[in-house]
Amino acid sequence: MAENFVVPTRMKAWVYREHGDVATVLRLDPELEVPKVREGQVLVKVVAAALNPIDTLRVNGVYQLPGFALPAVPGYDLAGIVVKVGREVKELKVGDEVYGCMLNANKDGTLAEYTVEEESFLALKPKKLSFEEAASLPLVIQTAYGGLERAGLSRGKSVLILGGAGGVGTITIRLAKEVFGASRVAATSSAGKLDLLKSLGADLAIDYTKVNFEDLPEKFDVVYDAVGPSERAVKAVKPGGSVVTIVDHGRELPPPAFSFIGTSDRSTLEKVKPFLESGKVKPVINPKSPFPFAQVVEAFSYLQTGRATGKVVIHPV
Ligand code: NDP
Repeated sequence: MAENFVVPTRMKAWVYREHGDVATVLRLDPELEVPKVREGQVLVKVVAAALNPIDTLRVNGVYQLPGFALPAVPGYDLAGIVVKVGREVKELKVGDEVYGCMLNANKDGTLAEYTVEEESFLALKPKKLSFEEAASLPLVIQTAYGGLERAGLSRGKSVLILGGAGGVGTITIRLAKEVFGASRVAATSSAGKLDLLKSLGADLAIDYTKVNFEDLPEKFDVVYDAVGPSERAVKAVKPGGSVVTIVDHGRELPPPAFSFIGTSDRSTLEKVKPFLESGKVKPVINPKSPFPFAQVVEAFSYLQTGRATGKVVIHPV
């Protein structure tokens, strides 16, 4: 039988009422109204959330969705418990433990005690994962999986991952090896993170501070670029191979590079579920994590260094 949850009318949430630097404009509101659930949505009690570079871009106002209006709560990734369902919700029920990301969220983000989500963006949390681990995954795993798929990575092919130690890169290494069956995985990072890349499954870990990856004699079937040097990336691919970049949108890319933007949907989360349940694909949580909910601004400023390893998670919310 579904549990009953008492949902308050007000909650704690991080809110920005104007665009600007995160540290200047993001404030903890102790009394924000809990969002209303529309037909196809569920209300989730957020247990853990995770940060992504795009959260900063949205607070800064660099990236905005059509129809966006202030004030807003930032945050895409979450893991939590369904506490209320809209009238047209078909599969999820009150009490379900879920995770997901809301890439088209305009106003009600995940850095709040409660948030509303479209049912279709959420999947049941794999039992093997804690809330913290689950919250770290949705945006990056959807971006990693979708990009590798579009680039045509398949069993027996080789891949070079630029930015192997970050939120996207760490999970891309795991997926390339365990889900796509790459025969050889190479990845770049600075010197102190090469062992991490190897522990995740990289056959070749390249210190980008010492080696220009495009000068290596070895070329790759696929280059997955989570950093941005597209002109160099295309020099590292084999003839007939492909280069997918998840940065540098909106500029012309040198062929065969193309741009990929992750989307929110539960289908990727369902495809990777067996690998998460078996432990073959494990999230990489940043060692300074989790940051408690009260320290969201500190967590943002840490992520903004561009040097964070794995995922920066907020827990407990
Ligand atoms: P992170 O902040 O987690 O990445 C930090 C990591 O980047 C650090 O571990 C750092 O390692 C590494 N890094 C920095 N510079 C280099 C370099 N020159 N070569 C290799 N590694 C480097 O970011 P994410 O992984 O979350 O995102 C990466 C990029 O992808 C961002 O620009 C983000 O906006 C974008 N993105 C795009 C998405 C899409 O849908 N298109 C979705 C998600 C992210 P070290 O300390 O060793 O330098």
